[in-house]
Amino acid sequence: MRDLFKPKWRFAHIPSRHAAIFSIASAVLFTALPPAVPPAHAQPRLPTLGDGLELTAAAERKLGDRIIRELYRDPDYLEDAVLQEYVQGIFQPLLSAARARGEVAPDIDERFAWEILLGRDRSVNAFALPGGYFGLHLGLIGVVATPDELASVLAHELSHVTQRHISRLIAQQGKQTPLMIGALILGALAASKSPDAAQALMVGGQALAVQNQLNFSREMEREADRVGYGLMQPAGFAPQGFVAMFDKLQQANRLNDNGSWPYLRSHPLTTQRIADMQSRIAHGAAPAAPAPLQHALLAARARVLSRPGTDALRQWLAQPQDAGFAARGQRERAAAWYAAALSAVQLSDWQAARAAVRGLQDAVAGDANAARQARLLAAEVELAAGAPQAALKLLPESAGGASTHRPELLLRAQALVAGAGTAADRQALAGTLQTWVTARPRDAAAWQALAQLWRAQGQGLRALRAEAEAQVARQDYAAAVDRFKAGQDLARKSAGAADYIEASIIDTRLRAVESLLREQAAER
Ligand SMILES: [Zn+2]
Repeated sequence: MRDLFKPKWRFAHIPSRHAAIFSIASAVLFTALPPAVPPAHAQPRLPTLGDGLELTAAAERKLGDRIIRELYRDPDYLEDAVLQEYVQGIFQPLLSAARARGEVAPDIDERFAWEILLGRDRSVNAFALPGGYFGLHLGLIGVVATPDELASVLAHELSHVTQRHISRLIAQQGKQTPLMIGALILGALAASKSPDAAQALMVGGQALAVQNQLNFSREMEREADRVGYGLMQPAGFAPQGFVAMFDKLQQANRLNDNGSWPYLRSHPLTTQRIADMQSRIAHGAAPAAPAPLQHALLAARARVLSRPGTDALRQWLAQPQDAGFAARGQRERAAAWYAAALSAVQLSDWQAARAAVRGLQDAVAGDANAARQARLLAAEVELAAGAPQAALKLLPESAGGASTHRPELLLRAQALVAGAGTAADRQALAGTLQTWVTARPRDAAAWQALAQLWRAQGQGLRALRAEAEAQVARQDYAAAVDRFKAGQDLARKSAGAADYIEASIIDTRLRAVESLLREQAAER
């Protein structure tokens, strides 16, 4: 990651052209920064591994929440059900393996968020944040050749968290309040991505002063490699993926591409790390299987969604017309058709998008997972083209409950809200989504979809409550209180016809969230 804590915002290296990944709205942050940070030598010394100095799980989660509240509002924060599902499918087995191996202490298991936030940035980066939050840039998904390579990065970052590296780094910032530490971390994130050099200097100056205290040590990096490597096989990934990722990093290192590979700057490949890895492989890891077709499609998706610019989109759109295209391998053709279709959507060329989807469907025939991705993309194209009825046909009604897939659920909601289907369809999906959010109350996008469905059904009170819960999920308690109060107003105005159960739920939730808001205010 940019292990956040290993700020690489050495300012000379701040890429000026690379779009901010999580470009923080920095103005607010600056005012939150302390006027001056004492010089490094005045800070307590970095504790050595194993001296037991740690932040409590609850305190670390609180700090993580504070940081994440800002990231959710960042314009580069990406809500994408397809990529989120794919990344979760890699992360969850790693987390389960860590639990099974006793790497996740009960206190952090219960308290931490274990959530990955996607950033639209093209740079290759991933990082762990306090409280079990992780950041992952689309640039990294776009550059890995197999799910195993992506798993190796997530396993490494997960291990920084389970081994309490972050909490140890923070705990020794004893003289700084969590608010200051949170602001410094956010400032560091912003500085590393800011295209504005003056701004970067301003934040970077502050950040540099604490860099020495917030760095992961070389021992921590080696431990994250060792523990992370141990998760690969039990989680169902080829350990060889770790080596392949190391090779990639070494290659990029040789090219000295430090603008687009921030991950490399936070994770210098020391000879020690390479030697460690080689000795593990000597003990025999089976060669990695070729990547599933689905991976090639979703890596293409990540590249297209990372705001590559119009020229790149046009190039991807034209790629299937290249001479000799038909003679290329299935993986390459399928990925090219996927990129062409999604690029066409970004360029609002619906005819080209539909044609590319047909090419994709032919190219993935016989591979169930890839065919599903083609169908989801086809629905996305129809929705974008203003044809919700055609989209709905591609998204068959599911039985609901545990077998429901999130991308299908959210796309189907979009189609129904856009006017496809019947009132009975909307009612049925609202019921499915209600069950979904009851089990996953932090799924803001699902709450939002539910709110739109209720509104389309003329259920204003339920819509307001779902909108409020979406804000709670994003930890924007002030906005949630506003929505709950709007719900109370509506309930009063429609007295008699009001849904009393819904109104009383709103009263209860409003009190609970107001108390969270007071708590938040008291932290400042
Ligand atoms: Zn690391």
